[in-house]
Amino acid sequence: MPNNPLNSLNFSGGPGVLPESVLQQVQEAIRAVPEVGLSILGISHRSDWFAAVVAELEANIRSLMNLPADYHVLFLQGGATQQFSMLPMTLLAGQATPADYLHTGYWSGKALPEARRVGPVRIAWSGQPGGFRHLPDDAELDFQADAPYLHYVSNETVEGLQFHRVLGRDDVPRICDMSSDFLSAPGDFERFSLIYAHAQKNIGPAGVTVVVVKDALLKDAPDTLPGFLDYRAQIAAHSIYNTPPVFAIYVVLLVSRWLRDEIGGLAAMDQRNTEKSRLLYQALDDNNDFYLGRAAGKDRSKMNVAFNLPNPELEQEFIAAALAAGFSGLAGHRSIGGIRASLYNGLQLAAVEKLVDFMDQFKSRNR
Ligand code: PMP
Repeated sequence: MPNNPLNSLNFSGGPGVLPESVLQQVQEAIRAVPEVGLSILGISHRSDWFAAVVAELEANIRSLMNLPADYHVLFLQGGATQQFSMLPMTLLAGQATPADYLHTGYWSGKALPEARRVGPVRIAWSGQPGGFRHLPDDAELDFQADAPYLHYVSNETVEGLQFHRVLGRDDVPRICDMSSDFLSAPGDFERFSLIYAHAQKNIGPAGVTVVVVKDALLKDAPDTLPGFLDYRAQIAAHSIYNTPPVFAIYVVLLVSRWLRDEIGGLAAMDQRNTEKSRLLYQALDDNNDFYLGRAAGKDRSKMNVAFNLPNPELEQEFIAAALAAGFSGLAGHRSIGGIRASLYNGLQLAAVEKLVDFMDQFKSRNR
């Protein structure tokens, strides 16, 4: 397949850029998966081959994340949004004490009303008064010992804020939406009771959401949940409860192999991601009379770099000129505007180097 150079300059917030070698295998698989001889779009989810795909993907994720044996790895539908509801339906229904939620940005805010539909919620900290430009320090946080669980978002995709530590108490189940930094770096994943992440940022296309859940979390789940929304039913069915998104799961498998074999695991992935974000933040800091970073320094995300220019008109010109130069996906989220460069796993350092050059030139033309 001839490389499409525009793919390599795709800074989209999600669905995001995927590695070229994965795209090549996907292209081939659309015609025929080599070991099956059929198109990936026409292989039964009940085939032995697909059961092996799910089993290998689970094993790859377990080994990349170094997960203990009492965790299950699930591949679900409904996006991260469905997890906003599935979680409280499992853990909050009928509870008198509130679950602790952090409100650190757009996406953690979206989880709140869904939880409130089901049971009591306490906002343990809110970044709203500060316009979601920073995250809390430990001194600002106090977590309830009797909360059914703590929920937070590790990386706020819209505002470009990322926690660089694990939050919460060890005696309260920790639940984390890692949609936009999943498998981007190593972590103490065994300190979480449940982690969820849709695929379409770092690990694949839209259509599948990975849930990593510790067995003990589900012991008191109600028996009245719809089967599709019951983690235990999904576990029993090995993620093939109904027709799963076969194509999306296969692409995630290819990305997991790429992470393992071409990148060399999560520590190596983190090194690359750190270097990419360091370069871009350095460019912002060196030009802070023109490019204004959104996030407080200590909370800067390695995945989403959000910034502003001196005025919205210049931001529009920047986005248009960038597009003409081959860069795509740089417009900030519709809720806050500005510019956002997303540096997901599949984006190469060379793309950031080109963006930084472009930013230099744009500044000299418009200062
Ligand atoms: N959580 C986070 C952190 C996100 O970035 C997004 C979407 N970008 C969502 C949840 C919602 O995900 P979905 O569209 O898969 O439901």
